[in-house]
Amino acid sequence: MSKETRRLFFALDLSDAHNAASRDAIVGLKRQLAPQGRPVPDDNLHITLAFLGEVDSKAYRRLCETADTLTCPPLSLITTQTGYFPAQSILWLGIAENTALRLLAEKLQSAAAEILNRPAEHKFVPHISLLRRAKPTEAPLTLQQPLHFQRVGIYASVPLEEGHGVRYQCLNHWTLTD
Ligand code: ATP
Ligand code: MG
Repeated sequence: MSKETRRLFFALDLSDAHNAASRDAIVGLKRQLAPQGRPVPDDNLHITLAFLGEVDSKAYRRLCETADTLTCPPLSLITTQTGYFPAQSILWLGIAENTALRLLAEKLQSAAAEILNRPAEHKFVPHISLLRRAKPTEAPLTLQQPLHFQRVGIYASVPLEEGHGVRYQCLNHWTLTD
C-alpha cells in the first residue's frame, strides 16, 4: 500500500459567489494592512476548522467517511476584529462565536485526533488569516461582515515554486443542510 501523504485540513472557503461583497471588504482590509506583513493571496482566504497535517490515503478515506456523517446546518457567521498569533506571526480577522461552527470544528478535530492518533488540538479560535510574518497590531481593527457557508471542504496544501507559498486544492466537499 502507498505510504504517500498529503498535507490536509478541513476548512470553509470564502470564494463562493454569495460571499463576494464581504470577501471584497476583507480583501480591502488585508490591502490596508499589507505594509505590516506578507498578505495571504486572495484565493487562499479561508476559515480552518481542523488542521490534519500529513495524511495517507487510508486515513483520508476514514476522514471522508466521518465527514459523510456530519449533521450541521448552513452557517451564518460574522467577522469581528483583527487579532494576532504571536507564535506564528499571523495577523487575522476573527469570527463571532457561533455554536454550530464550534460543534462542527470540534467534531472534525476529534475525528482527526482519533483517526490520526494524535492529541486533540487546543482551543479553537475561528479566524481568517490575513498576513503572515506580520508585526503585532497596535490596536484591533473592527470589520463586521456577514459570511454564509453551505459547504465544508477538505483541502490539500500544494506548494508552489520555491518561496512562493502554497495553493489550496479542494479534494472533497460536503453540503451543510438543516
Ligand atoms: P505555509 O505554511 O506554506 O505558509 P499555509 O499555512 O497557508 O502555508 P498550511 O501550513 O498547510 O498552509 O496550513 C493550512 C491551514 O491550516 C492554514 O489555515 C493554517 O493556518 C492551518 N494550520 C497549519 N498548521 C497548523 C497547526 N499546527 N495547527 C492548527 N492549524 C494549522
Ligand atoms: Mg502554515
